Amino acid sequence: MSWLRTLGREFTKVAEGLVRAGKAAVAATAPVVRKVMQSARDTVDELARRMQRARGDAQSEQEVVERQLQEVNARIARLHRAYRDNGGLTDREKAEWQRLKARREALVRDLDDLQAGTFAEGVVDPDREYESTTVTEQKAHLIDMLTGQTTYGKKCRVCRRAMTLQWNRSVGTPGLRDFFWGCSGWYIVGNTGRHACRYTEMLSQDDFRIFMDVTRPEFQMKAEDVRRKVMDPGRRQRLRQALDAVRTQNKESDIGLAHYRCPVHGESLRLQRKSDSGGDFLDEYFLGCPRWLPRNEGCNFLIKLKSPGRVAGVLQEAYGTNAAQVFDG
Ligand SMILES: [Zn+2]
Ligand SMILES: [Zn+2]
Repeated sequence: MSWLRTLGREFTKVAEGLVRAGKAAVAATAPVVRKVMQSARDTVDELARRMQRARGDAQSEQEVVERQLQEVNARIARLHRAYRDNGGLTDREKAEWQRLKARREALVRDLDDLQAGTFAEGVVDPDREYESTTVTEQKAHLIDMLTGQTTYGKKCRVCRRAMTLQWNRSVGTPGLRDFFWGCSGWYIVGNTGRHACRYTEMLSQDDFRIFMDVTRPEFQMKAEDVRRKVMDPGRRQRLRQALDAVRTQNKESDIGLAHYRCPVHGESLRLQRKSDSGGDFLDEYFLGCPRWLPRNEGCNFLIKLKSPGRVAGVLQEAYGTNAAQVFDG
């Protein structure tokens, strides 16, 4: 995977500070955008050449890394059980545990690089039109769609873990002022109940300048349209069918949604449905870590699809440009 690391670093170096959230929010003036475009083009050409040599494609490459990550996490889980059952680990087991953790970090970095490569491919796709634009209140759903997604290029200044976009839970549908950056260390809770990191940060003016494909259907929509469509009882059945199909697919392939990953295990999260949501559609679906186990013995990390933008974000990742048909089909 060494060529991937090199490639990732080259891309990341140019894009650092520009590429922010999953689908890339950037602070950019026109010349900078041109530079990003050029860098993306070079990256993709190089990526294509090397991928061809490796006789794979980005999709299967991502799957290969994800399967390796599953294996590493399964072995770490076995060591956890040994620790619990035997009251400690042998020196050999301790050494293996350190090795596995380092391996996991390396695999997560590979996934970040692959995601950067996929983004670059999108930028140079002739059918798409990437533009730099400032998100206004009417387009707040564009930020909402990115909440919970794994980000690259935005690291916590306290502990260097990845930060994700969040919003103040006391509001139903978030407006621009409700978003903030939260460190993913918040989700890592120790035995004493302490969060590994609690750092948060306000969004800067630059964070509202996003660089995205303006031909995408959600770009044409307004925040209140997204809300109306997601909450419309007449569309409820179709939305459930679409989300349940993603759920089944995640389950059968044992691979989740690439843009949503567990901050502890690095694996993609699986779409799940609550059995008792009390009829509240925004309390029905969530993305959960595949390392979850009953009786609190596994990973409890989850992202609830609690806002219309989040529902749209998941549909967008699963269905791409066909997501609009799920709403209006
Ligand atoms: Zn942190
Ligand atoms: Zn997890």
